[in-house]
Amino acid sequence: MTAAPLDLDLESENARLESATPEQRLAFAAKTFGKDLLFTSSFGARSGVLLHLWSVVCRELPVTFIDTGFLFDETLLYRSELTARLGLDVRVVRPDLTREAFVASFGDDIQKRDPDLCCSVNKVAPIAPLREKARAWVSGLRRDQSRTRADVAILETEGHLVRVHPLATLTAADVAAYLARHGIPEHPLVARRYLSIGCAPCTRAVADGEDERAGRWAGSAKTECGLHARPTPGPLSRAGG
Ligand code: SF4
Repeated sequence: MTAAPLDLDLESENARLESATPEQRLAFAAKTFGKDLLFTSSFGARSGVLLHLWSVVCRELPVTFIDTGFLFDETLLYRSELTARLGLDVRVVRPDLTREAFVASFGDDIQKRDPDLCCSVNKVAPIAPLREKARAWVSGLRRDQSRTRADVAILETEGHLVRVHPLATLTAADVAAYLARHGIPEHPLVARRYLSIGCAPCTRAVADGEDERAGRWAGSAKTECGLHARPTPGPLSRAGG
């Protein structure tokens, strides 16, 4: 396993970064971790903000996109559009099994019977080698997305990793304003009230008054795919740990 990062005092860094801008938070992560900073984007409903910030602050570093095989066609088109517009270096990772082979092995109702297994094979496993090599991981979690994300910190620890959430304090209105200010298009399904967008079999539109993420795995107790299972704040594991 890669050595743990620097002697970061997460408590004081979080206190300082709480009043910083998302761009300043991302710049801090880029300066601290350099090429050991992993950034995954789903190119989902609100991804345009962090992708734009990345293109400003970390353009030379890659963006990792997990193509599970079950994504909406609109997501793949949106990825192509934003990649070209923002000049991003997008690296696509895929599961070992194609969609067809996976469904043939596990059944075409696998997402209903065992979505955790499906996410484990198609989302979590493909990113594991990059996760292992990284020292920090940037993603776009925000506190107002759902109750399960309401306490997300800007910096959190997860084993040897520092999880970095530059957008933690932004609201959905902030996101919409940012996209408009920078002329960044929204994911095309947002107009149909898909306000959080993952794989097609596990995503529906949300009704007025529902959480942004209420359309993910609706009707089941599942709320996260496993990439962003919320870690418990605590000390960093040390080098060699
Ligand atoms: S979100 Fe649904 S289709 Fe995508 S990997 Fe998870 S269970 Fe499978």
